[in-house]
Amino acid sequence: MREGIYIHIPYCQRKCKYCDFLSFTNFDNVEKYITYLIREIEIFPPHEISSIFIGGGTPSAIDGVYIEKIMAALKKYIKDEIEITIEANPNSLTEKKVLSYKRAGINRISMGAQSSNDTILKTIGRLHKREDVFKAVKLIKKYGFTNFNLDFMLDLPGQTLEDIKNTLEDIKILNPEHISYYSLILEDGTPLKKEYLEGKIKIPPVKKDRQMYRYLVKNLEKIGYKQYETSNFAKNFPSSHNLSYWKLKDYIGYGLNAHSNLGLKRFYNTGNFEEYFSLIDQNKKPTLEVENLTKKDRINEYFIMGLRLTEGIDLLEASKKFEMDLFSYYKEAIENNIKYKTLIKKENKIFLTTYGKDVANQVELDFMK
Ligand code: SF4
Repeated sequence: MREGIYIHIPYCQRKCKYCDFLSFTNFDNVEKYITYLIREIEIFPPHEISSIFIGGGTPSAIDGVYIEKIMAALKKYIKDEIEITIEANPNSLTEKKVLSYKRAGINRISMGAQSSNDTILKTIGRLHKREDVFKAVKLIKKYGFTNFNLDFMLDLPGQTLEDIKNTLEDIKILNPEHISYYSLILEDGTPLKKEYLEGKIKIPPVKKDRQMYRYLVKNLEKIGYKQYETSNFAKNFPSSHNLSYWKLKDYIGYGLNAHSNLGLKRFYNTGNFEEYFSLIDQNKKPTLEVENLTKKDRINEYFIMGLRLTEGIDLLEASKKFEMDLFSYYKEAIENNIKYKTLIKKENKIFLTTYGKDVANQVELDFMK
């Protein structure tokens, strides 16, 4: 049995204006939190680790020694060469931290660049500037981290096609192995949503968003980035950790608010520090809720995630995985979407068309039963 591992580091130097992730700007209890997180690993250990993702929050905001300690606790469950990623922000990465990551066995860094436009970065409340990304990339390359990802965002306030072109020029120079391009979602309760509702900022209209997205996909391809998922592009190494989520492999999340999925069970850790510490003191997994999933839930998830993958869904493979005939189960959804030109079927595989990607949410609804 193998599991992907997610480690949640819930600290950030400052909250970005669009963010509703669980993270805190008070670092007073970091030492205690890491001690308890390691105890959580001991209480509920993995069998064998298939990949690790240390995310947050901002893992690079805390001392690299803590990351080394977490990795030391996980080491005995790593049996072969696996992908080990840490998330970092350009402004908080230092030489000392990069050296810690190297010692800890981390082999991939995922950095939040978000935009190459300093005005936009300021509007969305990021702490870094474009030049910080260049400095951070130089630093990680110096220590041999060639497998790194840069996260960028679409639909940002005031973003234009010109910004996308500038970012593509930066990508050519920075030469990351992997690019993620996610669209901004204006989450309720965030300062950015408030500014939007008050008319202080404007978001690109849907037509512009699609134009930028298509330009991006086409031009990333031209410089060697293959799109393997709606928002993800890689030269040679797609993220094996992300792929394991999308292919519904088992994973265990450690830390505040982390989720785990083992077979038909999904576990949700508490998002409250005191409760987290108290449950671990009782030698319990700090889980608030356990959700029992049905086979139908898992099939729905498999199709929703699978449709986002460029390789599409192999219906024969899926039928074997779920031990039922999914050709018949989804006959109507497949035929209708082929008719609407949102889906292509080639032998046993189904894929979204370019138009299908634009209306993916609608297509997904047809596959939810
Ligand atoms: S750095 Fe990431 S996790 Fe932290 S506030 Fe910004 S977007 Fe949220």
